[in-house]
Amino acid sequence: MCSFIEHMMLRLCARNYQQWRGNNWIFVIKYATLPESRENSFWLNRGMKKQRKQQQRFSSFLVLDFEATCERGTAIEPQEIIEFPCIKINTKTCEVEDIFHHYVQPKENPVLTPFCTELTGIMQEMVNNQLYFKETFVQFQKWLEETECWNSHNKSMFVTCGDWDLQIMLPKQCRLSSVDIPSEMKHWINIKKAFSAATGYFPRGIIDMLTKLQLPHQGRLHSGIDDCHNIAAVLKELINRGFVFEETSHLNLDKI
Ligand SMILES: [Mg+2]
Repeated sequence: MCSFIEHMMLRLCARNYQQWRGNNWIFVIKYATLPESRENSFWLNRGMKKQRKQQQRFSSFLVLDFEATCERGTAIEPQEIIEFPCIKINTKTCEVEDIFHHYVQPKENPVLTPFCTELTGIMQEMVNNQLYFKETFVQFQKWLEETECWNSHNKSMFVTCGDWDLQIMLPKQCRLSSVDIPSEMKHWINIKKAFSAATGYFPRGIIDMLTKLQLPHQGRLHSGIDDCHNIAAVLKELINRGFVFEETSHLNLDKI
């Protein structure tokens, strides 16, 4: 009996090995025949489901990337939003339709740390005399209305890099400022998750996505508005490669 089981196990292993070797040889031959410059696009194309530009489920994407008070090696409590940028992208044309960009004066810890300025490029003078979050948020909601992000014809969706902005930072800031989170900001597209669905690779961050797509990085990393432009560049590239975006994340109050 034992020898029969051993025999079957060996046959199974041999068949799996043959399959593995077959699949990998096809991959190695394809990969080796491509020029080095096309390495990334080949690698990405393997994971892309569609190659032609498709109609998106949303009329516009609202790319958002907060910057907040911070200190090296420790958490500032309460952490507060100091830069509030949002770029509205038309999903048909991939053009920027409108931009909301305000620096925000922190209320609880009004003095920025040298680490925060070094990381984000935001200097003390840029937040002094600016509106506090509560007033900025009123301005933002007014902007959303004026630009008709949601009406009988339009449906927009927020896009962020990671889940931190809308899962952690906005709910904490809204609680601190005693304001409600609008229902439209309780679900969003995490572009890292979308990138993974499109390519089969989960990226580490903005630079990683740009590198894989062979796109240049613009401006300064951790500047909220520059991060938005770079996220928008990734978004446009994936739209043009035929990826159809869907909501990836929603607010979970247990995680705050
Ligand atoms: Mg950022």
